[in-house]
Amino acid sequence: MFQKDVASFDDMSNLPASLRTDLDRQYTLGRLRQIKRLVSNEGETEKYLFGLSDGNTVESVLMRHDYGSSACVSTQVGCRMGCVFCASSLGGWVRNLTPGEIYDQVLAIRRSTGADVQRVVIMGTGEPLDNLDHTLVFIRNITADYGLGISTRRITLSTCGLVPEIGRLANSGLGVTLAVSLHAPNDDLRNRIVPVNRRYPLAQLIRACGEYTLRTGRRVTFEYALIQGLNDAPGQANALTELLRGLNCHVNLIPVNYVPERGSTPPDPVTVRRFQEVLELKGIPVTVRREMGADINAACGQLRTVASSQRAASSRHRHHRHSRGSEWYR
Ligand code: SAH
Repeated sequence: MFQKDVASFDDMSNLPASLRTDLDRQYTLGRLRQIKRLVSNEGETEKYLFGLSDGNTVESVLMRHDYGSSACVSTQVGCRMGCVFCASSLGGWVRNLTPGEIYDQVLAIRRSTGADVQRVVIMGTGEPLDNLDHTLVFIRNITADYGLGISTRRITLSTCGLVPEIGRLANSGLGVTLAVSLHAPNDDLRNRIVPVNRRYPLAQLIRACGEYTLRTGRRVTFEYALIQGLNDAPGQANALTELLRGLNCHVNLIPVNYVPERGSTPPDPVTVRRFQEVLELKGIPVTVRREMGADINAACGQLRTVASSQRAASSRHRHHRHSRGSEWYR
């Protein structure tokens, strides 16, 4: 199942026929149904829409780099975090994915492309730490000898900052790379754009990140989506350096990707460069994330639950679910 990607118990030809029949009677071997596959113009990014057994859908992405291929997997159908620039919570939260459904995204991508996936980024739709139990089982399976044997160092989990769960992840002993979606240098702004900050303010979040680096010996990545006129000023870059001072970290700047319903626009390249220079001057390691797959809406923050073509039909339902999702913070 985890390694050979068999389609049915019958394909497990090293098992006695009677056992295979027994397994087939008592269990089901699920597979994701590939509904759509989009390839970006440059050919290095592919986005998939997969159908789950209950009729829900999720999106996943394959990125081909010089150093190997990465799969970007989703952990929930929808999301209840409500970040104001992201497409993933537009339809509200529907349900958690099972560990198998997360794993199957990697298998289905391998099957479809033949790509040897060597890295996994848990950065698709959903908040992995809001589905931590299943995400941990997924990580254990995919890193295991009986699984794909992917090293934990090649797995990056991105969170918007659920503080208690960052502690649990540190205690899990898995030592995956932690990426934290920061996007603002102070509580005032972060409360507005990453609503979970109202529950876990920056001081708590930064402390949890410090503990994560001590516990795991790993450097934390901070993702900072640059939005024109909102969080891209040199003063804000300066405040960011103050916030991160002394932390074993790296900042990844992401000029915000376009989401029609959200309307945020990225700063011009000069503003991005200026922001980057402020961090560099203070000795904070910083890179600008290379945009991949924006032409097929496969870039950061563009993944969603329902395929674009189906969106109009479900917009009323979506609105209802979205308001329910936001109540989580009250
Ligand atoms: N829920 C997790 C996993 C999502 S990862 C998290 O919040 O980290 C997706 C990354 O893309 C996050 O850093 C997210 O904040 C960022 N993102 C969301 N919308 C974006 C957009 N429109 N442009 C660029 N990055 C975006």
